[in-house]
Amino acid sequence: MTIIMFIATLKKISLPYKKVVERTLDVEGKEMNESMKVMIELEEAKELVITRILPVDTESVSLSEAYGRVLAQDIRSPMAMPPFARSPLDGFAYRAEMYDSQPLLLNIVGEIPAGTLLERDIVIGEAAKIFTGAPIPPGANCVVRIEDTELVGGTVRILRPVSPGSNIIARGEEIKEGDLLLRQGFHLTPPAIGLLAAVGVVQVKVYRRPRVGLFSTGTELVDVGQPLHPSKIYNSNSYTLRGMLQEAGCEVLAIPIVADHIDKTLEALERVAEADVVIATGGASVGDYDVMRHALTQFGCEMLFWKLNLKPGTPASVGQKGKQFFFSLSGNPAAAMVTFELLVRPALRKLAGRSMVEEARFLVKMAEGFDKSGKQRRFLRAQAVFKDGEIWANPAPSQGSGILRSMIGSHLLVDVPANHGSVKPGELLMASWIADWES
Ligand code: AMP
Ligand code: MG
Repeated sequence: MTIIMFIATLKKISLPYKKVVERTLDVEGKEMNESMKVMIELEEAKELVITRILPVDTESVSLSEAYGRVLAQDIRSPMAMPPFARSPLDGFAYRAEMYDSQPLLLNIVGEIPAGTLLERDIVIGEAAKIFTGAPIPPGANCVVRIEDTELVGGTVRILRPVSPGSNIIARGEEIKEGDLLLRQGFHLTPPAIGLLAAVGVVQVKVYRRPRVGLFSTGTELVDVGQPLHPSKIYNSNSYTLRGMLQEAGCEVLAIPIVADHIDKTLEALERVAEADVVIATGGASVGDYDVMRHALTQFGCEMLFWKLNLKPGTPASVGQKGKQFFFSLSGNPAAAMVTFELLVRPALRKLAGRSMVEEARFLVKMAEGFDKSGKQRRFLRAQAVFKDGEIWANPAPSQGSGILRSMIGSHLLVDVPANHGSVKPGELLMASWIADWES
Protein backbone atom coordinates (compact mmCIF):
# COMPACT_ATOMS: atom_id res chain seq x y z
CA MET A 1 0.00 0.00 0.00
CA THR A 2 1.47 3.37 -0.93
CA ILE A 3 1.63 6.10 1.70
CA ILE A 4 -1.03 8.11 -0.17
CA MET A 5 -3.43 5.17 -0.23
CA PHE A 6 -2.76 4.61 3.45
CA ILE A 7 -3.57 8.23 4.30
CA ALA A 8 -6.70 8.10 2.14
CA THR A 9 -7.87 4.99 3.99
CA LEU A 10 -7.19 6.63 7.34
CA LYS A 11 -9.18 9.68 6.26
CA LYS A 12 -12.10 7.51 5.25
CA ILE A 13 -12.04 5.75 8.59
CA SER A 14 -11.72 8.92 10.62
CA LEU A 15 -14.40 10.86 8.76
CA PRO A 16 -17.67 9.01 9.18
CA TYR A 17 -20.89 11.00 8.98
CA LYS A 18 -21.55 13.19 11.95
CA LYS A 19 -24.14 11.80 14.27
CA VAL A 20 -25.61 14.41 16.53
CA VAL A 21 -28.26 14.42 19.16
CA GLU A 22 -30.91 16.87 18.07
CA ARG A 23 -32.82 18.70 20.74
CA THR A 24 -36.44 18.75 19.74
CA LEU A 25 -39.47 19.71 21.75
CA ASP A 26 -42.54 17.51 21.54
CA VAL A 27 -46.13 18.81 21.59
CA GLU A 28 -46.16 19.17 25.37
CA GLY A 29 -42.86 20.99 25.32
CA LYS A 30 -40.87 18.04 26.62
CA GLU A 31 -37.45 17.57 25.13
CA MET A 32 -37.16 14.63 22.82
CA ASN A 33 -33.70 13.28 22.11
CA GLU A 34 -33.34 11.97 18.68
CA SER A 35 -30.20 10.87 17.00
CA MET A 36 -29.96 11.70 13.36
CA LYS A 37 -27.30 11.88 10.69
CA VAL A 38 -26.41 15.47 9.86
CA MET A 39 -24.66 16.88 6.80
CA ILE A 40 -24.30 13.72 4.80
CA GLU A 41 -23.19 13.14 1.23
CA LEU A 42 -25.80 13.02 -1.50
CA GLU A 43 -24.95 9.40 -2.35
CA GLU A 44 -25.45 8.29 1.25
CA ALA A 45 -28.74 10.19 1.47
CA LYS A 46 -30.02 8.53 -1.71
CA GLU A 47 -28.93 5.13 -0.49
CA LEU A 48 -30.74 5.68 2.83
CA VAL A 49 -33.97 6.59 1.10
CA ILE A 50 -33.85 4.23 -1.86
CA THR A 51 -33.16 1.14 0.22
CA ARG A 52 -36.19 1.87 2.40
CA ILE A 53 -38.75 3.11 -0.08
CA LEU A 54 -40.79 0.34 -1.72
CA PRO A 55 -42.75 0.35 -4.98
CA VAL A 56 -46.44 1.22 -4.78
CA ASP A 57 -49.09 -1.42 -5.47
CA THR A 58 -50.19 -2.43 -8.94
CA GLU A 59 -53.19 -2.16 -11.23
CA SER A 60 -54.14 -3.38 -14.66
CA VAL A 61 -54.49 -0.91 -17.54
CA SER A 62 -55.30 -1.19 -21.22
CA LEU A 63 -52.57 -0.46 -23.74
CA SER A 64 -54.08 2.90 -24.63
CA GLU A 65 -53.65 3.99 -21.00
CA ALA A 66 -50.21 2.48 -20.60
CA TYR A 67 -47.96 5.23 -21.94
CA GLY A 68 -45.51 6.48 -19.32
CA ARG A 69 -46.49 3.81 -16.79
CA VAL A 70 -44.11 1.31 -15.24
CA LEU A 71 -44.49 -2.42 -15.89
CA ALA A 72 -45.17 -4.53 -12.82
CA GLN A 73 -44.66 -7.84 -14.65
CA ASP A 74 -42.23 -9.45 -17.08
CA ILE A 75 -43.84 -9.78 -20.48
CA ARG A 76 -43.21 -12.79 -22.70
CA SER A 77 -44.57 -12.85 -26.20
CA PRO A 78 -47.76 -14.92 -26.59
CA MET A 79 -47.04 -15.31 -30.32
CA ALA A 80 -44.41 -15.19 -33.05
CA MET A 81 -43.89 -11.96 -34.95
CA PRO A 82 -44.42 -11.94 -37.84
CA PRO A 83 -46.95 -14.73 -37.37
CA PHE A 84 -46.37 -16.05 -40.93
CA ALA A 85 -43.59 -15.82 -43.51
CA ARG A 86 -44.21 -12.65 -45.51
CA SER A 87 -42.96 -10.57 -48.38
CA PRO A 88 -41.00 -7.38 -47.64
CA LEU A 89 -41.75 -5.93 -51.07
CA ASP A 90 -44.01 -5.90 -54.12
CA GLY A 91 -43.01 -8.57 -56.65
CA PHE A 92 -43.56 -12.18 -57.64
CA ALA A 93 -43.37 -15.21 -55.39
CA TYR A 94 -42.22 -18.44 -57.05
CA ARG A 95 -40.25 -21.59 -56.50
CA ALA A 96 -36.60 -20.92 -57.25
CA GLU A 97 -33.93 -23.50 -57.78
CA MET A 98 -30.40 -23.22 -56.57
CA TYR A 99 -28.73 -22.41 -59.86
CA ASP A 100 -31.36 -20.31 -61.72
CA SER A 101 -29.40 -17.75 -63.69
CA GLN A 102 -31.05 -17.25 -67.08
CA PRO A 103 -34.34 -15.28 -67.22
CA LEU A 104 -37.35 -17.47 -66.39
CA LEU A 105 -40.83 -17.33 -67.90
CA LEU A 106 -43.51 -18.22 -65.32
CA ASN A 107 -47.30 -18.58 -65.41
CA ILE A 108 -49.10 -16.11 -63.15
CA VAL A 109 -51.53 -18.19 -61.10
CA GLY A 110 -52.83 -15.63 -58.58
CA GLU A 111 -52.46 -12.36 -56.77
CA ILE A 112 -51.85 -11.90 -53.02
CA PRO A 113 -52.56 -8.41 -51.68
CA ALA A 114 -51.63 -7.83 -48.00
CA GLY A 115 -54.27 -9.31 -45.72
CA THR A 116 -55.21 -12.19 -48.08
CA LEU A 117 -54.07 -15.78 -48.59
CA LEU A 118 -53.37 -17.78 -51.72
CA GLU A 119 -54.85 -21.15 -50.97
CA ARG A 120 -53.01 -23.19 -53.54
CA ASP A 121 -49.47 -24.45 -53.93
CA ILE A 122 -47.01 -22.81 -56.23
CA VAL A 123 -45.07 -25.34 -58.25
CA ILE A 124 -42.05 -24.95 -60.49
CA GLY A 125 -42.95 -22.82 -63.50
CA GLU A 126 -45.60 -20.78 -61.61
CA ALA A 127 -45.62 -17.40 -59.89
CA ALA A 128 -48.06 -15.33 -57.84
CA LYS A 129 -48.08 -11.56 -57.80
CA ILE A 130 -47.42 -10.57 -54.19
CA PHE A 131 -47.54 -7.28 -52.27
CA THR A 132 -45.63 -6.00 -49.24
CA GLY A 133 -46.80 -7.69 -46.04
CA ALA A 134 -48.66 -10.55 -47.80
CA PRO A 135 -48.03 -14.16 -46.78
CA ILE A 136 -45.70 -16.24 -48.95
CA PRO A 137 -47.88 -18.86 -50.65
CA PRO A 138 -47.21 -22.55 -49.97
CA GLY A 139 -44.61 -23.99 -52.32
CA ALA A 140 -42.97 -20.62 -53.09
CA ASN A 141 -39.48 -20.10 -51.68
CA CYS A 142 -38.54 -16.61 -52.88
CA VAL A 143 -39.81 -13.23 -53.97
CA VAL A 144 -38.34 -11.23 -56.82
CA ARG A 145 -38.76 -7.44 -56.97
CA ILE A 146 -41.33 -6.16 -59.43
CA GLU A 147 -38.58 -3.97 -60.93
CA ASP A 148 -36.70 -7.13 -62.02
CA THR A 149 -39.65 -8.59 -63.93
CA GLU A 150 -41.58 -7.96 -67.14
CA LEU A 151 -45.16 -8.94 -67.95
CA VAL A 152 -45.62 -10.98 -71.12
CA GLY A 153 -49.35 -11.64 -71.61
CA GLY A 154 -50.49 -13.89 -68.75
CA THR A 155 -46.90 -14.74 -67.86
CA VAL A 156 -44.07 -12.98 -66.13
CA ARG A 157 -40.47 -12.91 -67.21
CA ILE A 158 -38.06 -12.94 -64.26
CA LEU A 159 -35.18 -10.91 -65.63
CA ARG A 160 -32.84 -11.44 -62.70
CA PRO A 161 -33.65 -14.73 -60.97
CA VAL A 162 -32.96 -14.88 -57.21
CA SER A 163 -31.84 -17.80 -55.07
CA PRO A 164 -34.17 -19.80 -52.78
CA GLY A 165 -34.98 -17.87 -49.56
CA SER A 166 -34.53 -14.41 -51.13
CA ASN A 167 -36.81 -11.63 -49.91
CA ILE A 168 -38.71 -13.70 -47.41
CA ILE A 169 -39.23 -12.51 -43.84
CA ALA A 170 -39.42 -15.74 -41.87
CA ARG A 171 -42.17 -16.43 -39.34
CA GLY A 172 -40.86 -15.29 -35.93
CA GLU A 173 -37.92 -13.40 -37.44
CA GLU A 174 -38.40 -10.50 -35.00
CA ILE A 175 -39.99 -12.29 -32.04
CA LYS A 176 -40.30 -15.97 -31.16
CA GLU A 177 -43.25 -17.18 -29.14
CA GLY A 178 -42.25 -17.01 -25.45
CA ASP A 179 -39.45 -14.44 -25.95
CA LEU A 180 -38.96 -12.12 -22.98
CA LEU A 181 -40.01 -8.78 -24.44
CA LEU A 182 -40.03 -6.37 -21.51
CA ARG A 183 -38.97 -6.71 -17.90
CA GLN A 184 -40.76 -5.62 -14.77
CA GLY A 185 -39.71 -2.07 -13.87
CA PHE A 186 -39.50 -0.97 -17.51
CA HIS A 187 -40.86 2.47 -18.23
CA LEU A 188 -43.45 2.11 -20.99
CA THR A 189 -42.22 4.20 -23.91
CA PRO A 190 -44.00 4.47 -27.27
CA PRO A 191 -42.00 1.64 -28.93
CA ALA A 192 -42.58 -0.59 -25.88
CA ILE A 193 -46.34 -0.08 -26.10
CA GLY A 194 -46.21 -0.59 -29.85
CA LEU A 195 -44.33 -3.86 -29.35
CA LEU A 196 -46.99 -5.08 -26.91
CA ALA A 197 -49.68 -4.22 -29.44
CA ALA A 198 -47.75 -6.05 -32.16
CA VAL A 199 -48.03 -9.30 -30.20
CA GLY A 200 -51.66 -8.77 -29.26
CA VAL A 201 -51.29 -7.87 -25.56
CA VAL A 202 -54.52 -6.19 -24.37
CA GLN A 203 -53.94 -5.31 -20.71
CA VAL A 204 -50.75 -4.85 -18.72
CA LYS A 205 -50.04 -4.91 -15.03
CA VAL A 206 -48.43 -1.61 -14.05
CA TYR A 207 -47.62 0.19 -10.81
CA ARG A 208 -50.23 2.73 -9.89
CA ARG A 209 -49.13 6.34 -10.12
CA PRO A 210 -47.34 7.50 -6.96
CA ARG A 211 -49.43 9.95 -4.93
CA VAL A 212 -47.36 12.90 -3.80
CA GLY A 213 -48.53 15.42 -1.22
CA LEU A 214 -47.14 18.88 -1.83
CA PHE A 215 -47.14 22.05 0.18
CA SER A 216 -45.11 25.22 0.67
CA THR A 217 -44.44 26.64 4.11
CA GLY A 218 -43.65 30.27 4.83
CA THR A 219 -45.64 32.99 6.59
CA GLU A 220 -44.42 35.37 3.87
CA LEU A 221 -46.09 33.36 1.09
CA VAL A 222 -49.22 34.33 -0.79
CA ASP A 223 -50.83 32.39 -3.58
CA VAL A 224 -51.22 33.88 -7.07
CA GLY A 225 -54.50 35.72 -7.52
CA GLN A 226 -54.23 37.26 -4.03
CA PRO A 227 -53.08 40.84 -3.38
CA LEU A 228 -49.43 41.11 -2.42
CA HIS A 229 -49.08 43.13 0.77
CA PRO A 230 -45.69 44.50 1.88
CA SER A 231 -43.32 41.77 3.17
CA LYS A 232 -45.12 39.06 1.24
CA ILE A 233 -44.03 37.14 -1.87
CA TYR A 234 -45.84 34.83 -4.23
CA ASN A 235 -45.51 31.11 -3.75
CA SER A 236 -43.68 29.72 -6.75
CA ASN A 237 -42.38 26.39 -5.40
CA SER A 238 -45.78 24.72 -5.40
CA TYR A 239 -46.09 25.45 -9.11
CA THR A 240 -42.56 24.46 -10.04
CA LEU A 241 -42.76 21.19 -8.13
CA ARG A 242 -46.26 20.37 -9.30
CA GLY A 243 -44.96 20.49 -12.88
CA MET A 244 -41.94 18.34 -12.04
CA LEU A 245 -44.15 15.79 -10.31
CA GLN A 246 -46.59 15.66 -13.18
CA GLU A 247 -43.71 15.15 -15.59
CA ALA A 248 -42.53 12.31 -13.36
CA GLY A 249 -45.92 10.61 -13.73
CA CYS A 250 -47.16 11.32 -10.18
CA GLU A 251 -50.60 12.23 -8.92
CA VAL A 252 -50.25 15.50 -7.00
CA LEU A 253 -52.21 16.26 -3.83
CA ALA A 254 -51.40 19.92 -3.34
CA ILE A 255 -52.61 21.79 -0.29
CA PRO A 256 -52.59 25.54 0.37
CA ILE A 257 -49.71 27.51 1.82
CA VAL A 258 -48.80 26.69 5.42
CA ALA A 259 -47.60 29.37 7.85
CA ASP A 260 -44.38 28.85 9.83
CA HIS A 261 -46.08 27.29 12.88
CA ILE A 262 -45.65 23.77 14.16
CA ASP A 263 -49.39 23.26 14.70
CA LYS A 264 -50.25 24.48 11.19
CA THR A 265 -47.54 22.24 9.76
CA LEU A 266 -48.86 19.25 11.74
CA GLU A 267 -52.34 19.94 10.35
CA ALA A 268 -50.90 20.04 6.84
CA LEU A 269 -49.14 16.72 7.40
CA GLU A 270 -52.46 15.20 8.53
CA ARG A 271 -54.10 16.43 5.35
CA VAL A 272 -51.76 14.50 3.09
CA ALA A 273 -52.23 11.18 4.86
CA GLU A 274 -53.23 9.58 1.53
CA ALA A 275 -49.89 10.40 -0.07
CA ASP A 276 -47.06 7.90 -0.55
CA VAL A 277 -44.54 10.72 -0.42
CA VAL A 278 -44.86 14.25 0.87
CA ILE A 279 -42.74 17.15 -0.33
CA ALA A 280 -42.67 20.37 1.67
CA THR A 281 -40.54 23.39 0.94
CA GLY A 282 -39.40 26.09 3.33
CA GLY A 283 -38.62 26.16 7.03
CA ALA A 284 -35.94 23.54 6.60
CA SER A 285 -32.97 25.37 8.08
CA VAL A 286 -31.82 26.56 11.52
CA GLY A 287 -33.84 29.78 11.96
CA ASP A 288 -36.33 30.27 14.80
CA TYR A 289 -39.20 29.91 12.34
CA ASP A 290 -37.81 26.87 10.57
CA VAL A 291 -40.20 24.34 12.07
CA MET A 292 -40.42 21.66 9.42
CA ARG A 293 -37.98 19.19 10.94
CA HIS A 294 -39.49 19.57 14.42
CA ALA A 295 -42.98 19.13 13.00
CA LEU A 296 -41.92 15.95 11.24
CA THR A 297 -40.42 14.56 14.44
CA GLN A 298 -43.55 15.41 16.42
CA PHE A 299 -45.66 13.90 13.70
CA GLY A 300 -43.90 10.63 14.48
CA CYS A 301 -41.33 10.48 11.72
CA GLU A 302 -38.01 8.76 12.07
CA MET A 303 -35.62 11.31 10.61
CA LEU A 304 -33.19 9.64 8.20
CA PHE A 305 -30.94 12.68 7.97
CA TRP A 306 -30.84 16.44 8.03
CA LYS A 307 -28.66 18.52 5.69
CA LEU A 308 -26.93 17.46 2.52
CA ASN A 309 -23.27 18.28 2.03
CA LEU A 310 -23.84 20.23 -1.18
CA LYS A 311 -25.04 23.52 -2.58
CA PRO A 312 -27.66 24.66 -3.37
CA GLY A 313 -30.20 23.08 -1.06
CA THR A 314 -28.09 22.09 1.96
CA PRO A 315 -30.97 22.18 4.49
CA ALA A 316 -32.91 19.18 3.22
CA SER A 317 -34.15 16.36 5.42
CA VAL A 318 -36.06 13.14 5.00
CA GLY A 319 -38.37 11.50 7.49
CA GLN A 320 -40.18 8.18 7.42
CA LYS A 321 -43.40 7.25 9.17
CA GLY A 322 -44.60 3.78 8.32
CA LYS A 323 -44.73 3.56 4.55
CA GLN A 324 -44.83 7.34 4.09
CA PHE A 325 -41.72 9.36 3.24
CA PHE A 326 -41.41 13.09 3.88
CA PHE A 327 -38.96 15.30 1.99
CA SER A 328 -38.34 18.69 3.53
CA LEU A 329 -36.57 20.90 0.99
CA SER A 330 -35.16 24.40 1.16
CA GLY A 331 -37.70 27.06 0.29
CA ASN A 332 -35.23 28.81 -1.98
CA PRO A 333 -36.80 28.26 -5.39
CA ALA A 334 -33.71 27.11 -7.30
CA ALA A 335 -32.45 25.02 -4.37
CA ALA A 336 -35.82 23.26 -4.11
CA MET A 337 -35.63 22.30 -7.78
CA VAL A 338 -32.03 21.11 -7.58
CA THR A 339 -32.62 18.93 -4.53
CA PHE A 340 -35.76 17.56 -6.15
CA GLU A 341 -33.61 16.49 -9.10
CA LEU A 342 -30.77 15.07 -7.04
CA LEU A 343 -32.62 13.37 -4.21
CA VAL A 344 -36.38 13.23 -4.71
CA ARG A 345 -36.48 12.13 -8.33
CA PRO A 346 -34.49 8.89 -7.82
CA ALA A 347 -36.66 8.12 -4.77
CA LEU A 348 -39.82 8.68 -6.82
CA ARG A 349 -38.52 6.32 -9.50
CA LYS A 350 -38.02 3.60 -6.89
CA LEU A 351 -41.51 4.30 -5.53
CA ALA A 352 -42.95 4.16 -9.04
CA GLY A 353 -41.50 0.68 -9.50
CA ARG A 354 -38.82 1.61 -12.01
CA SER A 355 -35.75 -0.57 -12.23
CA MET A 356 -33.55 2.34 -13.34
CA VAL A 357 -33.55 4.95 -10.59
CA GLU A 358 -30.31 6.82 -11.11
CA GLU A 359 -29.86 9.68 -13.51
CA ALA A 360 -27.19 9.10 -16.20
CA ARG A 361 -24.01 11.12 -15.70
CA PHE A 362 -21.52 12.11 -18.37
CA LEU A 363 -18.61 14.47 -18.98
CA VAL A 364 -19.19 18.02 -20.17
CA LYS A 365 -16.71 20.74 -21.08
CA MET A 366 -17.09 24.02 -19.25
CA ALA A 367 -17.78 26.91 -21.65
CA GLU A 368 -17.16 29.44 -18.85
CA GLY A 369 -15.37 29.29 -15.54
CA PHE A 370 -16.87 29.67 -12.08
CA ASP A 371 -14.80 31.28 -9.34
CA LYS A 372 -16.92 30.85 -6.29
CA SER A 373 -16.67 27.10 -5.77
CA GLY A 374 -15.62 26.56 -2.19
CA LYS A 375 -15.26 23.81 0.34
CA GLN A 376 -18.69 22.35 -0.30
CA ARG A 377 -19.64 20.31 -3.33
CA ARG A 378 -21.71 22.43 -5.67
CA PHE A 379 -24.10 21.69 -8.49
CA LEU A 380 -23.97 24.38 -11.16
CA ARG A 381 -26.99 24.81 -13.35
CA ALA A 382 -25.90 25.27 -16.92
CA GLN A 383 -27.11 25.52 -20.46
CA ALA A 384 -26.01 22.70 -22.76
CA VAL A 385 -24.36 23.85 -25.97
CA PHE A 386 -23.41 21.34 -28.65
CA LYS A 387 -20.09 22.30 -30.23
CA ASP A 388 -17.63 20.23 -32.27
CA GLY A 389 -19.45 17.04 -31.34
CA GLU A 390 -19.14 17.69 -27.61
CA ILE A 391 -21.48 18.93 -24.91
CA TRP A 392 -20.33 22.21 -23.45
CA ALA A 393 -21.86 23.53 -20.23
CA ASN A 394 -22.51 27.22 -20.02
CA PRO A 395 -23.20 27.98 -16.34
CA ALA A 396 -26.08 30.33 -15.56
CA PRO A 397 -24.66 33.74 -14.61
CA SER A 398 -26.31 33.68 -11.21
CA GLN A 399 -26.01 30.52 -9.13
CA GLY A 400 -27.80 31.91 -6.04
CA SER A 401 -30.11 29.35 -4.45
CA GLY A 402 -33.03 31.76 -4.63
CA ILE A 403 -32.66 32.66 -8.30
CA LEU A 404 -35.45 30.71 -9.97
CA ARG A 405 -34.84 32.49 -13.25
CA SER A 406 -31.47 30.78 -13.58
CA MET A 407 -33.30 27.47 -14.03
CA ILE A 408 -34.90 28.69 -17.24
CA GLY A 409 -32.77 27.51 -20.15
CA SER A 410 -30.61 25.40 -17.82
CA HIS A 411 -30.41 21.83 -19.03
CA LEU A 412 -27.61 20.46 -16.91
CA LEU A 413 -26.47 20.12 -13.33
CA VAL A 414 -22.68 20.16 -13.31
CA ASP A 415 -21.11 18.47 -10.29
CA VAL A 416 -18.21 20.52 -8.89
CA PRO A 417 -16.53 18.42 -6.17
CA ALA A 418 -15.79 19.78 -2.69
CA ASN A 419 -12.52 21.75 -2.41
CA HIS A 420 -12.26 21.87 -6.18
CA GLY A 421 -11.14 25.51 -6.38
CA SER A 422 -12.26 27.72 -9.21
CA VAL A 423 -13.69 26.04 -12.28
CA LYS A 424 -11.71 26.85 -15.44
CA PRO A 425 -13.12 27.25 -18.95
CA GLY A 426 -12.47 24.08 -20.96
CA GLU A 427 -12.38 21.91 -17.85
CA LEU A 428 -14.16 18.54 -17.92
CA LEU A 429 -16.72 17.87 -15.20
CA MET A 430 -19.48 15.32 -14.63
CA ALA A 431 -23.06 16.41 -15.29
CA SER A 432 -26.58 15.11 -15.65
CA TRP A 433 -29.62 16.34 -17.56
CA ILE A 434 -32.34 18.27 -15.77
CA ALA A 435 -34.25 19.43 -18.82
CA ASP A 436 -34.70 18.65 -22.45
CA TRP A 437 -31.99 20.56 -24.37
CA GLU A 438 -34.65 21.90 -26.72
CA SER A 439 -36.22 23.90 -23.89
P1 AMP B 1 -36.73 29.00 3.81
O1 AMP B 1 -36.30 27.70 3.23
O2 AMP B 1 -38.04 28.95 4.47
O3 AMP B 1 -35.64 29.54 4.72
O4 AMP B 1 -36.87 30.02 2.62
C1 AMP B 1 -35.73 30.44 1.88
C2 AMP B 1 -36.12 31.55 0.93
O5 AMP B 1 -37.01 31.04 -0.05
C3 AMP B 1 -36.85 32.71 1.58
O6 AMP B 1 -36.41 33.90 0.96
C4 AMP B 1 -38.29 32.44 1.28
O7 AMP B 1 -39.07 33.60 1.29
C5 AMP B 1 -38.23 31.81 -0.08
N1 AMP B 1 -39.33 30.88 -0.28
C6 AMP B 1 -39.71 29.91 0.58
N2 AMP B 1 -40.76 29.24 0.10
C7 AMP B 1 -41.03 29.76 -1.11
C8 AMP B 1 -42.02 29.48 -2.09
N3 AMP B 1 -42.91 28.51 -1.92
N4 AMP B 1 -42.02 30.21 -3.21
C9 AMP B 1 -41.11 31.19 -3.39
N5 AMP B 1 -40.15 31.50 -2.50
C10 AMP B 1 -40.12 30.81 -1.36
MG1 MG C 1 -39.03 30.29 5.71
